Formats: sequence, C-alpha cells, structure tokens
Amino acid sequence: MKDPKSKTCNGCKGDCCRYLAIEIDTPKTKEDFEDLRWYVTHKNVNVYVEEDNMWNVEFITPCEFLDEDNQCTVYENRPGICKEYEHDECLFHNEYNEKHTFKTLKEIDEYIKNKFKKII
Ligand code: SF4
Ligand code: SF4
Repeated sequence: MKDPKSKTCNGCKGDCCRYLAIEIDTPKTKEDFEDLRWYVTHKNVNVYVEEDNMWNVEFITPCEFLDEDNQCTVYENRPGICKEYEHDECLFHNEYNEKHTFKTLKEIDEYIKNKFKKII
C-alpha cells in the first residue's frame, strides 16, 4: 500500500478516470446470470464481486475529458461523482482484492456451473 500521507494525484495516470463501474443486483438464479453473461461478451466489459459481496459491471473506457497529461479538462464542471471521489477510496492509494472477476464468458460459465451443480 502507498504511504497514506502522500495522498495526492502525483504519479497517477488518472486511474479513476479510465473506467466506470455500476453496482448491480446480486444474481440469485441461473436466469439472473444471463444478463451478466451478455455483459462479458463485450470487449472491455467485466463483472466483478467486491469483498463485501457487492456485484458490479465495469466498463474499461477512459473519460472523454481526460487529456494527454491525465488532467480533467472540465474540472469546474465535472460530474458530482468525480467531485465526491476521494483519495481514501481511490485505486491508486488503496489495494482492492476482488472476490471474483469475470472477463470472459468462459469464466462466468465456470462459476455458474459450480454454483448450481448441486441443483441441476
Ligand atoms: S483520485 Fe486517485 S485514482 Fe484518481 S487521479 Fe487521483 S490518485 Fe489517481
Ligand atoms: S469528468 Fe474529469 S474527473 Fe470526471 S472522469 Fe472525466 S476526466 Fe475524470
């Protein structure tokens, strides 16, 4: 982990501006997994489960307003979520160990197979 006292954006390449993640309902049935299977068929779209069991769909795509120097070009008018984002939770200053990450159909199908094998 990086030194918590040095929490600035220096040295970071705008990590938090290069993806977006949206919380999704926890899938409970095999049918619930169908949308998730569809998400991961797309390039740069992943599904992951956080340590606290929250499920998310993630789009690895940079913000259009991040410039070549990794600076925000609409800083004064940036969305609220950007304003609220803090170093205490940011990717550059913290380590996150996701419980599961699904980047491919094969990975999620394997998980589904194991999860429901006793039910089938
Ligand atoms: S808030 Fe964190 S992830 Fe975002 S640019 Fe600054 S150091 Fe990087
Ligand atoms: S609007 Fe600015 S702060 Fe927000 S994601 Fe885009 S570049 Fe980053």
